[in-house]
Amino acid sequence: MNFDVKKHLNEQKKQLIDLNDKIWEYAETRFEEYKSAKILKSYLADNGFAIEDNTADIETAFVASYGKGRPVIAILAEYDALSGLSQKGGITEREALVDDGNGHGCGHNIFGSASAGAAVVVKKWLESTGREGTIQLIGCPGEEGGSGKTFMAKKGVFSNLDSALAWHPTSVNMVISVSTLANYQVYFRFKGIASHAATSPHLGRSALDAVELMNVGVNYLREHIIPEARVHYAVTNTGGNSPNVVQSNATVLYLIRAPKMHQVEDIYRRICKIAQGAAMMTETEVEIIFDKGCSNYLPNRELGKVLYNNMVKAGAPEFDQNDMDFAQAIRETFSKSGGGSEELLTTFVDSKEFLKLAKEIQKKPLCCAVLPYVALNTTMPASTDVGDVSCNVPTAQFGMSCCAIGTPIHSWQMVSQGVTSLAHKGMLKAAEVLAITGIDLIQHPEVVKRAREEFEEVNASGYVCPIPDGVEPLPVK
Ligand SMILES: [Zn+2]
Repeated sequence: MNFDVKKHLNEQKKQLIDLNDKIWEYAETRFEEYKSAKILKSYLADNGFAIEDNTADIETAFVASYGKGRPVIAILAEYDALSGLSQKGGITEREALVDDGNGHGCGHNIFGSASAGAAVVVKKWLESTGREGTIQLIGCPGEEGGSGKTFMAKKGVFSNLDSALAWHPTSVNMVISVSTLANYQVYFRFKGIASHAATSPHLGRSALDAVELMNVGVNYLREHIIPEARVHYAVTNTGGNSPNVVQSNATVLYLIRAPKMHQVEDIYRRICKIAQGAAMMTETEVEIIFDKGCSNYLPNRELGKVLYNNMVKAGAPEFDQNDMDFAQAIRETFSKSGGGSEELLTTFVDSKEFLKLAKEIQKKPLCCAVLPYVALNTTMPASTDVGDVSCNVPTAQFGMSCCAIGTPIHSWQMVSQGVTSLAHKGMLKAAEVLAITGIDLIQHPEVVKRAREEFEEVNASGYVCPIPDGVEPLPVK
């Protein structure tokens, strides 16, 4: 068969770069990605996909499908930005594009565009061969602090698929073969009694005292939880700016993470007790409001191997000297800005071959190799709602180099690089890997079957959505 993925992608190149740059510019945050979702849907509809809107009752979620019958292969797309990270593109210093604006600090503009391009190429292949099989592009909003996919999983969006593929812009090329942390995000809202802090403090009951005591209690709890767990908090309401008022309202938002959901639940239960203790000490009341949660990621080894082979086949993005020079200039900003060459890789991978190459590639500012595939039973200290997809369907994902090695995600440097040729080249290469893999899976039902068998074994206890009934996905407040 003479289907040239690269040639077909080249035909899409101009449009994909345009999509990438527009989504970067829109920089819409969780569950408000209206313009970004719209241009992705238009691109897919123009290329013959049927569009389901308002998936799982989320306005900016969608499913674009083409083909008939099985297997049903899904490619995930993200397109949400982060607040406070507005940054001019293609420069090597911190300068906001819009004051207090948003920015694509996690490169989801690149993520969404590559995934859409890959789906179109798989569709062209299906069309040219007349083979049975369905390709879906699932538009997943609100990854950043929103767990959009978990809300979608609750409504069964991923439960009837055969395989799901995802990727993420990173600074190295590798299959993501480790698990991530499950989490709960919960508000603790304290209510007390306002009073004059000097004249009648005895009549007041301070909600802010309760928040402070709760945080002290949780900080003592840290010694007695598993070391892999992470507990963070942000005081989202201090009760106002007047020290001469006893604060009657105060809220703290907790993010509780651990490798397994039952561990998160255990820590959450103990934190709720501390909150109640703080309320009792201060004679205030506490309301516990569940915000969102997500499951840990279960990497499918069988699909991971297929992805790896296709990454090797496609090779690393072809960066030129200009790209190297720009990446080097970006790299030089890391120490000054408090960022840094994050060698997270080397902290959890215990393979000689891997470590040697990881060390070697860091000598250049851009990654020009594909790191070996190492299937590990370790957990990366981060969370993703792709976890909930992986609990519903065999899932694999990879990282593709779109920025200087060591670029911290959620940084201005990541935003700046997101509209340069670094991002464009990484995006096209990621689309190539996704497209070849999608085609590969449709051609090899035995691989899809083996991936399913592995999934059934790993996920024997089934999926329980961590988000309770009645909780709605919410935009950034
Ligand atoms: Zn991300």
